[in-house]
Amino acid sequence: MKKNLNSKFKIQSYFYPKRLLSFLFILFLFAVSVYAGRRERLIETWQPVHFGIDLTFNFSLTEISSAKTEVTVLIRKADVTMIDFDFGAMNISTVTVDGEPAKFAQHNDKLDVYLTTPAKQNQKLKVVVSYSGTPKDGLIMTKDRDGFPSAVGDNWADRVHNWIPCFDHPSAKATVKFTVTAHSNYVVVANGKIESATASNSDLKTWVFNETSPVSPYNMVVAVGNFANAEIQTKSLFPFRYYVPQSDRPFAEQGFSPAVPSVLLFNKLVAPYPYEKLALIVGATRFGGMENANTIVFSPNLFRDFETARPRSQRYNIPSAVEEVVAHEIAHQWFGDSVTQTTWADLWLSEGFATYFAGLFLENYESKDAFRAYMKRAAETYLRFSKQRRIPIHDKETENLFRLLNANNYQKGAWVLHTLRGHVGDKAFFDGLKIYYNRHKSSTATTEDLRSAFEKSSGKKLKDFFDRWIYKAGHPVYQISWSVINNKTIEIKLNQIQEDEPFLIPVTIELATNKGTRRVSIIPTGKETKLKIKSGKPKKITIDPDEIILKEIAS
Ligand SMILES: [Zn+2]
Repeated sequence: MKKNLNSKFKIQSYFYPKRLLSFLFILFLFAVSVYAGRRERLIETWQPVHFGIDLTFNFSLTEISSAKTEVTVLIRKADVTMIDFDFGAMNISTVTVDGEPAKFAQHNDKLDVYLTTPAKQNQKLKVVVSYSGTPKDGLIMTKDRDGFPSAVGDNWADRVHNWIPCFDHPSAKATVKFTVTAHSNYVVVANGKIESATASNSDLKTWVFNETSPVSPYNMVVAVGNFANAEIQTKSLFPFRYYVPQSDRPFAEQGFSPAVPSVLLFNKLVAPYPYEKLALIVGATRFGGMENANTIVFSPNLFRDFETARPRSQRYNIPSAVEEVVAHEIAHQWFGDSVTQTTWADLWLSEGFATYFAGLFLENYESKDAFRAYMKRAAETYLRFSKQRRIPIHDKETENLFRLLNANNYQKGAWVLHTLRGHVGDKAFFDGLKIYYNRHKSSTATTEDLRSAFEKSSGKKLKDFFDRWIYKAGHPVYQISWSVINNKTIEIKLNQIQEDEPFLIPVTIELATNKGTRRVSIIPTGKETKLKIKSGKPKKITIDPDEIILKEIAS
């Protein structure tokens, strides 16, 4: 089964909008693992509110020759005596708290910093950690495709603590200022707006980037390399630049041509773009694309086979896979980056949204047919997955976070949004999205927060919908039959033959008779629902003719 999945993905797209290749690899690694629930780190005694991160790289970009991270810590409880950072095994020289040397202990990806006097609730402390070395993971130091040194952050899901002491959970959002010094041959980019780039007298250059919106740890990033970079022409109000290996320069402008239209569309559908700049980078990431806040890193293979890859976007004449991943990662700037999932069980609020919004991009800029084809492919991917793992989207069990990069969170999540859109109608759907976004921008949100927003916009109770589609596994498998009651009346029987509970969402049925076609809505009351209607014998019955429900149809 795995082999089939694998080859299918290769045919469909030569890389995937983020992480599916890794997912397949992990699927292989953990196919026989046993797990018993996931424990997530929750904010209890302290949280970071700001990072000031100062990094100096050696010439060959193989190590951080010196690093100093200042974390502004907000104390959340009375009498806190220790700040337990997540931090990897880099060499620490000193730790200070509010300027005074502090005792610390490093063990098992933790850095415990001891306070000499217990901290009070709501007190703020400045903890400064000075360190150096080559991180084990998270900051990938490797050669770019042209053989030049590069150092690029790639931190999903909880790998940033390998090079930055932090609280490595998406709910621990904080603002961040990066001060990065490297040889002046290199170009540096990081989250936030550039404040300065100053050459010193010793072939070094110091770059300062300031991110004033709180970002999740996994979305913090620095990229250093021999990038070709240029402004993308735009009428937008913020700077828009690409950074690619020199040999990708001929493709960059055309390849990233869906980026500005993506921003404009999502501005219209949701809200104004949440950040002050957008950088599109081709560099080291294990994913097809990684949506770091306003500083997206795409796979080194983004422009591989750029001129020959099929299928291609009609509108931009670029590989469809490039178009989809660009729209997907840009959609994350709103969903995932600005509004972040409160827990990993809510990951679909990030991945399902980005997957659906890449579809909305196609619907708006390519064609309805392109959108339908995209959603059909998504359904097929999910249905294959559902044959192997029958678990809910809201998954609190799976321990390995990479295993959450699955067709539930991506494709089924996108389909749940599409089904919801069909159920409440376009106006309530897009109004609900705006309510949800505006309530939670620059913060975090849960699945229940999303339900509340859609209930407000639609006036419908959606508890049953969310219970069945998000908190329980599976999808409806419909089977339809009909019988003649008399010469004016037929009875339609809609069965749901999936093993688990029925889905109660109304199902539109289209009947073609000698007198033409008509539609009726069946509201399921259980696994079997019957409806008598005035009709002649149907020649053809179509279930869900507008394709709004993620389903299978049994004959
Ligand atoms: Zn994504």
